[in-house]
Amino acid sequence: MSTQNPVFIPGPTNIPEEIRKACDMPTLDHRSPQFARVFKPAVAGVRRVLGMSEGEVILLPSTGTGGWEAAVTNTLSAGDKILTARFGMFSHRWIDLCQRHGLDVQIIETPWGQGAPLAEIEAALSADTEHEIKAVLATHNETATGVKSDIAGIRRAMDAAGHPALLFVDGVSSIGSMPFDMAGWGVDIAVAGSQKGFMLPAGLAVLGVSPKALRAMEAATLPRTFFDFRDMLKSYASGGYPYTPPVGLIAGLAKAIEMLEEEGLQNVYARHHRLAEATRRAVAAWGMQPCAVTPDLYSDTVTAVVVPQGCNGTDLVQLAASKYGVAFGVGLGEVAGKVFRIGHLGMLTDVMLLSGLATAEMCMADLGWDVKLGSGVAAAQDYLRNSSNVALAAAA
Ligand SMILES: *Cc1c(COP(=O)(O)O)cnc(C)c1O
Repeated sequence: MSTQNPVFIPGPTNIPEEIRKACDMPTLDHRSPQFARVFKPAVAGVRRVLGMSEGEVILLPSTGTGGWEAAVTNTLSAGDKILTARFGMFSHRWIDLCQRHGLDVQIIETPWGQGAPLAEIEAALSADTEHEIKAVLATHNETATGVKSDIAGIRRAMDAAGHPALLFVDGVSSIGSMPFDMAGWGVDIAVAGSQKGFMLPAGLAVLGVSPKALRAMEAATLPRTFFDFRDMLKSYASGGYPYTPPVGLIAGLAKAIEMLEEEGLQNVYARHHRLAEATRRAVAAWGMQPCAVTPDLYSDTVTAVVVPQGCNGTDLVQLAASKYGVAFGVGLGEVAGKVFRIGHLGMLTDVMLLSGLATAEMCMADLGWDVKLGSGVAAAQDYLRNSSNVALAAAA
């Protein structure tokens, strides 16, 4: 019974029936021309969603984490210096991965709830007159805190410092749900995963790679085999794959992009913004606040709700699962217990969101938190019935 309920975790997200069906296909020979007929539309679609004008798309049988590893191992060498900020669990885990690969990570410690600190990034790059920093890493949407960072701003900071480093962006919980402009922002590698904005099961890392990153690949000496872009690109050229591809997931990816484009990417972004805003209205009506400290940082895919003093966000998540069969996200790392997270990305309608907000409220009442039943739901209803996705997209 509970498996009928939508999930409100910020990935994996709810899988539309059409995508589930598209993934479910008979075996085909990946060395036959049949494979290219599945593969090519998926790759072409990813280029559009990422906003790529040049470079290559790489699809790896992996997850977002594997995408990080592929980005780093294909372009860098042991001891290379990279620059990044730590402001949540996902930026932290990318740093950890880089350190385990023997990279020299210059970390700008940033309070959780804030985003990439542009002035500090620019200062660090300007101070690096020898251009030792080979790459700047940025988490576009920090899923642990519900914070969106300004990637265009990071590009401006890099240009202002006149620094030639590569720019790598973790867009795992933003791409396909929030505007992403790889070409316009000068992103060298963008990393996404199948199970968030693309509404698929986990199992694919989706990367966009710029010509500059491809040039860096030739000199990079970190070991890689399974993730080697060179093997991938050589096989792609002949319509193939260097090993057995997850054909069903790739077919599902093409279907997902078809659905996103049928809705219209601008409408998809507007829908995410609107559902996020409805969530934030509910949070305010509960007398609570998002973990993101200022409105410009608010994520349109996940809201980390700071729970009142003396309350524990993890209690709410556990009760929602055990009593109502509904999944919310727990707080991670520094904010464990202090927040619970509402994922509002992927396939989600007004009706689905309202059910999640109503469930969160029931849990709060059950736990004896000082929240009036219906208060958040009413605030969200009020906003939703007086706004529309299409109008928001047209105004943008
Ligand atoms: C989910 C997520 C990841 C990790 O992706 P996996 O697919 O679980 O490996 C990385 N970064 C961000 C921002 C995420 O939201």
